[in-house]
Parts: sequence; C-alpha cells; structure tokens
Amino acid sequence: MDIFARPGDSFWNFSQVFKMPLQLIIDSNRNINTQILTTGQRIQIPGFVATNYKIQTGDSLCLIAQRLNLPLYSLLLVNPNLEPNRLQVGQMIKIPQRITWRLINGKQNFDYDIMMNDIRRLLAVYPFLQTAPIGNSVLKREIPEILVGSGTKRVHYNGSFHANEWITTPIILTFLNDYLLSLTNQTTIRGLFTFPFYQQTTLSIVPMVNPDGVNLVLNGPPANEPWRSRVVELNNGSLDFSDWKANIRGVDLNDQFPANWDRERARNPKYPSPRDYGGERPLSEPEAIAIADLTRRRDFARVLAFHTQGEVIYWGYENLEPPESEVLVNEFSRVSGYESVQTIESYAGYKDWFIQEWRRPGFTVELGSGKNPLPLDQFDEIYQETLGIFLAGLYV
Ligand SMILES: [Zn+2]
Repeated sequence: MDIFARPGDSFWNFSQVFKMPLQLIIDSNRNINTQILTTGQRIQIPGFVATNYKIQTGDSLCLIAQRLNLPLYSLLLVNPNLEPNRLQVGQMIKIPQRITWRLINGKQNFDYDIMMNDIRRLLAVYPFLQTAPIGNSVLKREIPEILVGSGTKRVHYNGSFHANEWITTPIILTFLNDYLLSLTNQTTIRGLFTFPFYQQTTLSIVPMVNPDGVNLVLNGPPANEPWRSRVVELNNGSLDFSDWKANIRGVDLNDQFPANWDRERARNPKYPSPRDYGGERPLSEPEAIAIADLTRRRDFARVLAFHTQGEVIYWGYENLEPPESEVLVNEFSRVSGYESVQTIESYAGYKDWFIQEWRRPGFTVELGSGKNPLPLDQFDEIYQETLGIFLAGLYV
C-alpha cells in the first residue's frame, strides 16, 4: 500500500500508526533514505492494501478510523489531498485494509503461469520480498528466486526439481504466504513468533526448478515443434505425462550434479527419458546450472530440496555431512513424524552435491505418500504435517 509522507513523519511513526515492525517497512523501501523524508514522498507499507470507500451520511474520519481499528492519521497518510473538515457524502476516499488472509490458493493445478502471477501478487503486498530470475529453462521460462529476511544465516528451500512432484511448489508458497502473514500481523505459527526468524535468516526460495516439466505434466506437450513430437516420442507416444519427472529434454535434473555422477549414470537410462536420465555430462541442463550457480553465489548454510513422496527425509551423503545435519533431521522428524534416512544407493542429486562441496547440512524431503503426482486432496494434510519442517529450517 502506498502512503505519502507528511511534514515531521518518520519510518518510526509509520511503524506505530500501522502496527508494523519497523524493519519490514524499511525493507519495503530499499531505495529510500530513511533519514530524509520529503513531504508527499511515496512510501510503501507492507501487509496492507488501500481500498476505495464512499463516504456515507454521518461518517467522519474519526469514525472510519475507529471502525478500521487504526489511528485517524493513517487515513491522512493514504489520502494526501484529503481535507478532513470538508468531507462530503458520496466522496471517494482510500482506506487502509490490513491483509489477514492468504493471497495464494495452493489447491489448484499449480502451473508456471499461476506461480508467476502469485509471486507478483505477493510482491505487491509484501515489498520487503526480493525476487530475481536465476536463469532460464530450456523453453526460456525465467526461473525465479524469492528472498525473505534480513539475517546473516542463509537458508535455501526449493521445489519441483521433478515435474510430477509439482505439488511441492504450492506447498512451499503457502508456507511463504503464512510466514508473511505472521510477520506483518505479528501472529504466531505453531506458537512461534516468526519475526526473530526474519531478523536472523535470509530465506532463499526457488519454488519451481523445472517449469517446463511442470507445465508438461499439467498442461500437456508444448504446441511448438520440435518439442511436441520429441516429448511424445520419449513418452512412448502417450499424451499422459503424469509419470514425467525430467526437464523438457528428458534429463532428470536431480541426477545432474557432480557427486558420483558416473556411478548414478551407470545404473540409469543412457538416453533421454521421462525419468532418471542424468544427461550427457553433469550440469548440462540450464535449470541445473541455474541452481548450481545460485548455490555457489549465495553460500547457503543449509538447503532443503522438497520432493514427493514417501514421508521420509534423506540427510546424509557418503559420510560427508556435518554433525549438525543429524541435529536438524531429528528436529524435522520430531515435528513432522517423517522418517529420517541417512543414506541410500543414490548419487548425483542436488543435496548430495551440496553436502559434498560445502560439508554443510543438505536434505531431500519427500512430502506425502502415495503415487506421484500426489492428488490435490492431500494438500492440506501434507501442509499440516510438514509445516513444522519449514519452520524448523529457520529456527534450529
Ligand atoms: Zn523427486
């Protein structure tokens, strides 16, 4: 929501007027020098929208403010040209409305366009979020990263490495939305105040690593050639892509990382395939390169890659993981009931590479149970059982 500074204003008094943590207002206005506000200057207040209101008989600004449970001054800040003593019936003014509901509806076929639209909606209401593309998919879709928090501990969550595990994207974004609601309304999640997490961590989210694959599973093959014919051929002529895990070139992005890549390749398909083909060489695919580059650039303290399914958390790799990994996985397990498994016969995954290169905690979290793609009627259950993991990733 836009407000317009008045003489004598400061970020501190905006924080008081709107009952909004000062840091969130500062981080919503990164291009503004908080020390020098000029009258009429536009400031963004997170967690609010300004809606239109038509003055009724008997209205006064005082009464309207009372109904909104906000100081009268908030109305002057959103209506820079308003003359409080000349209010007329039928006149339109703006009123600030606090957002206390989710903007994201996760329970739908969550394709790339829905995700991008929802990210734009979150950014409009929560301008302290930062987002930028980390690269492009094979079909030139920008892969967005979202950053939230001002802390020095950098934590990374990602989803939809595998196309038919797309439900991980709306699960992660629903968590993000609930985190944002809790920050701006100063409410708890599972009894925890989340503002300390914002101050201590910077959470990096890549909600959809494999957008071309997700759209293939949800919307069918792309209209343009040669892609259309190629994916149908790789799919043995079928137009049902619900078993597809790979990117649009038939490369499994979670078999692309240089951590015993040869060993993984030896037991997997040698040609492009709906799943498990690791590519001609490690990091040959733009989506895997984008995540690898981001990981090198950001220096993450820990990473959690969300997949489906199995209700299990993999946390080791060749005994290279640090002792902290076990502490973390025990907490993840405690809050979710998911089983923790140290190692399995599997290589070249993102978390394997992360553990190998940085010797820091990396996890593959398999959400839900059943057969991929998990149906949307499991959405609430999966979210409830794994919400604790998303929180623990920030506080442990
Ligand atoms: Zn997976």
